[in-house]
Amino acid sequence: MQRAPRPNPYRDTWCGDLNAEHAGRAARVSGWVHRRRDLGGLIFIDLRDRSGIVQLVFHPDTSGPAFAAAERLRSEHVISAAGEVVRREESTVNPNIATGEIELAVTQMDVLAASETPPFPIDEDGPVDETLRLRHRALDLRREGMRDAMVLRHDVAQTMRRVLNERDFLEIETPILTRSTPEGARDYLVPARVQPGSWYALPQSPQLFKQLLMMAGFERYYQIARCFRDEDQRADRQAEFTQLDIEMAFVDEEDVIDVTEAVMGAVFEVGGLGVAAPPWPRMSWKEAMGRFGSDRPDTRFGLEISDVTDALRGSEFKVFESVIDRGGVVRALNVGAREMSRAELEGLNEVVQRHGGKAVAWAFVESGGGWRSPIAKFFSDDQRAAATAALQAGEGDLLLFVADAEDVAAPALGALRLHLGDRFDLIPADRHDALWIVEFPMFERTDGGWTALHHPFTAPRGSFEDPGALLSRAYDLVVDGWELGGGSIRIHTPEVQRQVFTTIGLSEEEADQRFGFLLDALRYGAPPHGGVAFGLDRIIAVMAGRDSIRDVMAFPKTASGADPLTGAPAPVDQAQLAELGVRVTVQPEQTA
Ligand code: ASP
Repeated sequence: MQRAPRPNPYRDTWCGDLNAEHAGRAARVSGWVHRRRDLGGLIFIDLRDRSGIVQLVFHPDTSGPAFAAAERLRSEHVISAAGEVVRREESTVNPNIATGEIELAVTQMDVLAASETPPFPIDEDGPVDETLRLRHRALDLRREGMRDAMVLRHDVAQTMRRVLNERDFLEIETPILTRSTPEGARDYLVPARVQPGSWYALPQSPQLFKQLLMMAGFERYYQIARCFRDEDQRADRQAEFTQLDIEMAFVDEEDVIDVTEAVMGAVFEVGGLGVAAPPWPRMSWKEAMGRFGSDRPDTRFGLEISDVTDALRGSEFKVFESVIDRGGVVRALNVGAREMSRAELEGLNEVVQRHGGKAVAWAFVESGGGWRSPIAKFFSDDQRAAATAALQAGEGDLLLFVADAEDVAAPALGALRLHLGDRFDLIPADRHDALWIVEFPMFERTDGGWTALHHPFTAPRGSFEDPGALLSRAYDLVVDGWELGGGSIRIHTPEVQRQVFTTIGLSEEEADQRFGFLLDALRYGAPPHGGVAFGLDRIIAVMAGRDSIRDVMAFPKTASGADPLTGAPAPVDQAQLAELGVRVTVQPEQTA
């Protein structure tokens, strides 16, 4: 710790700060009983506070009444103990903990609070049922892994603030009770008592407010902001999450990327994540989709996707031909000289089907350029040779093909690639890759029209004549296949903003109703501006080596959005509803 606690009747030092230099001195510590051992007339207690653990020793001759009291101590009792810091005998030194050379020979002890037997052990970091952990979160957070994650989270947040403060950014808060800010999810709504029938929305991001702050002349803004998105349950998403939100005025992509690399470079250093120092490489969205089948490619391993449409065009294989005729593509992976059983190969269909694909065709390259494959007979020697060459394949290599519309084939192969990376252990655990994805499409097709791929405030690049061909000035930072953050240069004229609203199917009236305040502000001199946002939870999870962001949040919810700790969400009183003018038309679901 950086500073000793002010001496009071509970303690005058942190447990974890005591070491051999303190030998011979009196000390008083407070904390939780981490572990207790009775050894041949001596009682040892590992006492834990936030700083760490120190060993207390109780001796029947010298500890007085504290010895009898120590016999009754149990795990997680809270005590204050005083005595002399003494060096341990050589043979009992514990090199694994900072205080391992000493112990506190206790002469006086107060039991401040007793603990019932905890529902799971606190002194080890083993697996425990997650619902149980969340229900007893105060206990779970006492465990070393969780404590470390919270400390890391704090360090990361402070690093972000430090780097941005040094660069003249201002930290400004934006409202939680507001109107909808579209980021592609459903809003959480809060009924307004003072205006019955009206609702606030919780922000999906501070997007519009940070843009208004640029129009207000603040030039450089940041906030570690809470965002709320009511998304259909997907693994490892949280209804509320934290992001580092940044916005700057009079900038282009290079300025935002430059600041971001300074912030995130420092963050990765603090977290000890071995990412190469910035600047980080950039890859266009098109290239990422083509080579990796993903807009957040995991570039730590090869197994890249190749296009074999031209090589296999005009074959007898009806399945491929009809796809090609309809303007689709045939893409493939060279898995290398790896064996997979028939059953396993068939199982790959399921992997692509989860991503809208239909099936995977396979072939093993034989000596002389032939293929061992159920589809080999449909192709001429030339076609097989051309495909084998395009895939840079040789004898024994396994080739996997997916034929489909381009926007289906790419993600299907992307998923297949990740599956195989996992299956054949191709991802080096100690390597971490950061890269920027740039040149995104501005719009994405929906059933009836277009939707903004990033959000509708992102500046387009090109002409609106063909919305499908329009690129945007957006950028995403991807690390190890995770999109850690993203942002864009924004639209700063009302005309272009209206054009985007029109393209995504908002009538002028709707646009005025929902975003009138933005359009209004844009009319009074908006500077060119842009920004970015980073998901703090994911960053910490990656750096802490945790699979779940729930393990780096103090009080997360389960995957289904429930909070086993408080029981939220929960029905409310009839009277409360009446006051809000709200009537519930469904039976509240019984929660376990
Ligand atoms: N508002 C965006 C988001 O939350 C980030 C940005 O464009 O700055 O994803």
